[in-house]
Amino acid sequence: MNLLNLDVSHLTLIRCGACRQPLWKRESRDLGFGLDCAEKLGIIPPSPPRFSRRDGGDCQGQTDLLEET
Ligand SMILES: [Zn+2]
Repeated sequence: MNLLNLDVSHLTLIRCGACRQPLWKRESRDLGFGLDCAEKLGIIPPSPPRFSRRDGGDCQGQTDLLEET
């Protein structure tokens, strides 16, 4: 029985085009750069502070702070 599959050969290692760090996030792999480097290089717009989830909507617990109990 194989409890932990360590065979990651199906994953192609993609490295950041700027800093050579391995990229694991899908967004980064698609860009060919880490998100930080992509921002520094102006490839993607700087991400605003994370007041909400990236897919929109409030973070869980976020509005609770504003609601009177
Ligand atoms: Zn990088």
